[in-house]
Amino acid sequence: MRYISTRGQAPALGFDEVLLAGLARDGGLYLPESWPTLTPDRLRSLAGLSYPQLAAAVMRPFVTGSAIEDRFDRLVAEAYAGFEHSAVTPLRQLDANDWLLELFHGPTLAFKDVAMQFLGRIFDAVLEARDERVTILGATSGDTGAAAVEAFAGRSRIDLFMLHPEGRVSEVQRRQMTTVQADNVHNLAVRGTFDDCQDLVKACFNDHGFRDGLHLSAVNSINWARVMAQIVYYVASAVALGAPERRVAFAVPTGNFGNVFAGHAARCMGLPMERLVVASNSNDILARFFERGEMAIESVVPTLSPSMDIQVSSNFERLLFELLDGQGAAVAETLTSFRREGRFALPDAVMEQVRAGFDGYRLDDEGTVAEIARCYQTCGAVLDPHSAVGLAAARARRDDPAVPMITLATAHPAKFPDAVERAIGQRPALPPRLADLHERPECLTVVPADETQLKAFIGARARVQTEAA
Ligand SMILES: *Cc1c(COP(=O)(O)O)cnc(C)c1O
Repeated sequence: MRYISTRGQAPALGFDEVLLAGLARDGGLYLPESWPTLTPDRLRSLAGLSYPQLAAAVMRPFVTGSAIEDRFDRLVAEAYAGFEHSAVTPLRQLDANDWLLELFHGPTLAFKDVAMQFLGRIFDAVLEARDERVTILGATSGDTGAAAVEAFAGRSRIDLFMLHPEGRVSEVQRRQMTTVQADNVHNLAVRGTFDDCQDLVKACFNDHGFRDGLHLSAVNSINWARVMAQIVYYVASAVALGAPERRVAFAVPTGNFGNVFAGHAARCMGLPMERLVVASNSNDILARFFERGEMAIESVVPTLSPSMDIQVSSNFERLLFELLDGQGAAVAETLTSFRREGRFALPDAVMEQVRAGFDGYRLDDEGTVAEIARCYQTCGAVLDPHSAVGLAAARARRDDPAVPMITLATAHPAKFPDAVERAIGQRPALPPRLADLHERPECLTVVPADETQLKAFIGARARVQTEAA
């Protein structure tokens, strides 16, 4: 399988190169040259498989030609062996045709684990096959960093530097990163905001000498392999509820559009899907886009669902590439003017196509608290605030009551106990394996928001150059 950049100016690459590169050299995101197809017969053949078996079957066409092709099934099995629930991503029934797809049974209690546990293994295996090392650099507002630290700790060919804004991630999120003791993990608390962290990461990547010297790599949601791993649970849940004979709909709490795009990819591959509901909190740029056909940035406001406090959804670029008929130059032009003017509009004909497959919804904090309370009262399920935004969207936007509606539950309620307590008067307990999280020793380094000092810090600790020297 070959992959092409959404901006059309970078060479087509194989899976392994795309995995290690993250972002394309022309600033674009990678997409497969064509979608492998899930025919009705293929879908029927997936019924009853275990999650790892189904995952390997769905993902295998994407990794043809990879150095890890022959070990792929085993790597997938290992990635999901550490999940608390043996179904990995179980479905919970809420009402006659309403389902919750629980994606939070991984080690850090958010859906990021589903992709990141897999990524940790395949990164290591690909590097081993190529006899290479990388330095992974990222910025996090909480969930991504925790999942990455957990997935990459102790991996011999990788050093991980994860930046978070000092004092601005939740206690649980910080401790999930800082209590993992491993020589290759470096937690940096930056004196600044999440935007400062992201700017520092971008500056490091834009310095091509630094980037090449340290083999910098990225595991944020623009990495194709993460999207690929997320396609699996759309297929698994739809097959469990009767695909291909029955169509299903999904509601997805959304930030960077990575999770929604994975659902769209499943549909492009042939999964019968009624619609994808894109659920936003008060940072509703996507909801406004589906309504008005115009993407227009406003400032980010903090909410009870912080992992969705995003205005520019980086993975939207992948959908834009499709909407602009695969014209990389048009994608680049649209996004350049978006950066400059803070807005772009799409023609009515294109928006008609968009609205046929997607719908948007927005829920503020008050609505989120009410939804957590309502769900608890009607069926006893305790939702985290992100999942609550999704469930409210599912109810508001369903049209055919006969079509099963699956809401993606993206975090465990114990990860966001304050919002849950506000809604139902109880603090959800952490699962037993994390019960002593607040007693574990922490390891982190506080650094100023300064590019020169950050580069010196990374340069002194990354093992890549010791090898090169
Ligand atoms: C990351 C995250 C999201 C948003 O996912 P995207 O792929 O960025 O759209 C939603 N909920 C939770 C709990 C998350 O951690």
